[in-house]
Amino acid sequence: MSEQTTPNVPEWTPDSWRSKPIKQCPDYPDKAALEKSVNELKNLPPIVLPNEIIRLREHLRDVAQGKAFLLQGGDCAELFSYCQQDVIESKIKLLLQMSLVLLWGADKPVVRIGRMAGQYAKPRSSPVETINGKEVPSFRGDILNGFHPDERELDPNRLVRAYQYSSATLNYIRAAIGSGIADLHGPLDWGLGHVRDPALKAKYQETVDRIQEMLRFMHTIGADQNEKLSTVELFTSHEGLLLEYEQPLTRLLNHPSVRSYPPDSTTPPKKEYYNTSAHFLWIGDRTRQIDHAHVEYFRGIANPIGVKIGPSTPTSDLLPMLRTLNPNREPGKITLITRYGADKVSSLLPAHIRTVEDSEYARTVVWQCDPMHGNTQSVTGGIKTRKFSDIFSELQQTLRIHKEQGSYLGGMHLELTGDAVTECLGGGAGLDEDDLSTNYTSFCDPRLNEKQALELAFLVADHYRQ
Ligand code: PEP
Ligand code: MN
Repeated sequence: MSEQTTPNVPEWTPDSWRSKPIKQCPDYPDKAALEKSVNELKNLPPIVLPNEIIRLREHLRDVAQGKAFLLQGGDCAELFSYCQQDVIESKIKLLLQMSLVLLWGADKPVVRIGRMAGQYAKPRSSPVETINGKEVPSFRGDILNGFHPDERELDPNRLVRAYQYSSATLNYIRAAIGSGIADLHGPLDWGLGHVRDPALKAKYQETVDRIQEMLRFMHTIGADQNEKLSTVELFTSHEGLLLEYEQPLTRLLNHPSVRSYPPDSTTPPKKEYYNTSAHFLWIGDRTRQIDHAHVEYFRGIANPIGVKIGPSTPTSDLLPMLRTLNPNREPGKITLITRYGADKVSSLLPAHIRTVEDSEYARTVVWQCDPMHGNTQSVTGGIKTRKFSDIFSELQQTLRIHKEQGSYLGGMHLELTGDAVTECLGGGAGLDEDDLSTNYTSFCDPRLNEKQALELAFLVADHYRQ
C-alpha cells in the first residue's frame, strides 16, 4: 500500500465508478461513436469554473447553518429545444421573483439554483413503452435519445450536443443577468388576476404590496445601487445520471484560493477534481445505492452535491452515505433532498432527521424539500399530474416537522416552468382534470406553471411571517 492511501478508503479516480455495479446505465451499441464523443468532450473547456463552484459551496454552508434559504427549480426533463431566449428568460424571471418573495418572508438571503443548462438525462422505471400499439425504448432524455418514437435509439452524438446546449443556455443566463434582467428597478408583473378565492388574493396582494414598498424604500435611500443587489447569482444543476458525460467534464483544477502572485513556490497549489458541467449535481432516488457507481463517482468531486431520499431510503443508509460522500463533514457539502409524498412525510421524515442531527453530521447538511416526486399520480388516460394541494401539504408538513425537531428546512426543490402550462391540478386558478389537455407540454413529470410556483413562494413566505 502506498504511503498516501488511507487504509479503508480505496483510491478515487474519475473512472473508478466503472468497477462498480450501476443502475440506469445505457448500453451504447456503437462503442466507437461513444469513444469519439467522449474524446471530444474531454478536450472542450469547462462550462463552469472552480471559483463559482466554491462560491456556491460557501453559500450552501450558510444554508446548512440556517443563515440562508435555497431555492432550486426548473424542468423535470430539459429539452435541447428549450434553449431559446424567451424560455430561458421566463424561467430566470420566475426564480428571481420567487426568491424575492422568499427573501421577504424568511428574512434571509436566497441562494438560487436552476435545474437548467444540463438537466437532460432521465432515469426511467421501464426501459420500454408502448406507443400506438408498438413497443419502443423509453425516452431517456435528450442527452441519450429523442422523444419522437423514431428517435429512440441511443445516440452518442447527443453527448456533445448536450454540452453545446448546456453552454449556450448558461451563456445566455450569464448575459441576461449581466444585462440587468434581474434589475429590481423594472416593474415586476405579479399577475394575481387568476386567483379565484378573494381571501387568498387579498393575502397575496398584501405580500406584493409589502415587497413593492420595500423596493421603493431601497430605491429612495439608494440601497438598490449596491452592487450586491443589482447583480444576482443563478447557479446551474442537473441530476448526475449519465456518468459517460460527467466523467470527461471532470477536471483536476486549482482551488480558487490559489491566486497569489508571484506564485508561492513553497506551498504546492491545492488541486481538486471539479465536475465542470454544472455547479451542483445530485444523485437521483434510483441510483443512490451506497456500493454502486454513482455514489463512487460523486465521492470524488469537489462540487456541492445533492442526494434524493424518500420512502425507499432505509434510515441505516444515511450515515454510511454521508461518511462516504463527505468524510470531512464540511457544512453545506451535502444537500439531502427529501421527497416522501404528502401522505408519508410525517411518518418518515422525523427518523431521517434524528439519525443525521443526533450524529457527528449535525448541522452539516442542507435539508431541502422536494414536494414534487412523492406526489405524482395518474389520472384518466394515464396522464401524470400532481395536486397543488399535495405539494403544498408536503412542504407545510416538512416545515412543521423541522421546527418540531429543532432542525432547519433550508430549501425547496421544485419542478416548474415560466410558461402557462396546465400540468399540475389546483392552485389559485383551480385547474381541474379537464384543463390538463389545454397546455400539457412536459415530456416527463408535470411542472408547476409560473402562477402556481409563485403561489407556493407566497405560502412559504407566509409561513415564515407568522
Ligand atoms: C427528478 O428529480 O426528476 C427525479 C427523477 O427525481 P427522483 O430521483 O427523486 O425520483
Ligand atoms: Mn421529475
